[in-house]
Amino acid sequence: MSRLVRAALLASLLAATVSPARAASPCEGRLGTSRVMEVQAAGLKVGTKHFPETLDLADGEVVLTFDDGPHPGTTETVLRALAKECVRATFFLVGRAAAAHPDMVRRIIAEGHTVGHHSQTHPMTLADMPFDKAVADIEKGFASVDRAAYGAAGPHPRVPFFRFPGFGSSPELLDYLAKRGVGVFGADLWAGDWNPMTPEQQLELVMARLDHQSRGMILFHDTRAQTAKMIPAFLAALREKGYRVVHIVPAGVATAVAPD
Ligand SMILES: [Zn+2]
Repeated sequence: MSRLVRAALLASLLAATVSPARAASPCEGRLGTSRVMEVQAAGLKVGTKHFPETLDLADGEVVLTFDDGPHPGTTETVLRALAKECVRATFFLVGRAAAAHPDMVRRIIAEGHTVGHHSQTHPMTLADMPFDKAVADIEKGFASVDRAAYGAAGPHPRVPFFRFPGFGSSPELLDYLAKRGVGVFGADLWAGDWNPMTPEQQLELVMARLDHQSRGMILFHDTRAQTAKMIPAFLAALREKGYRVVHIVPAGVATAVAPD
């Protein structure tokens, strides 16, 4: 072996051993996901807007949630922003939207986010509907999302997380979901992104509310263009102000890859 070849071999060996250690993590300097919280879903009712209790978050910790998707265009914009900052969130999907866009459901999961449920057709009046009809819509939503996400729906939703459309729960439906082992998620704060406003106004509103409460589960809609446009600036604001993102996953269910 010539000296030149030996030198080249040595150089490539060194490069192979040294470069992985030297390579900066793709999440270095980003907001990131500070911790993963395993949630025991059965009987859970959280979110101080509607329930007495909420997730066990420390000061400065936030959980990001997105409702009503998947929606072509806006959901991808949100996913890109989250990926850029290495942030994991929870998406409460509408069954019929999931059935229409199964590729997007699988992408949300592949990118490490949690996929929960938000009924099949998003009736704002689940609590006022006949009980059986309301249960049928909820159950159909579980099945649609699981078929889109995992190719098949079992007897129980894979991720037993549910959020009522318009937070319209009833004691009977809450009882049904508790017996079904499904946790119910409200929210601690929101920007009211169902109201038209500019991304800048929305950012100002949600940050003012967050600075006031200093922690909490935040509700957004990834179906809203104004929200999708706002998310990069929102994540930057969280990073600048030292907030930490917590990713919620169901206890004992393998749904997402390990955090970075
Ligand atoms: Zn909704």
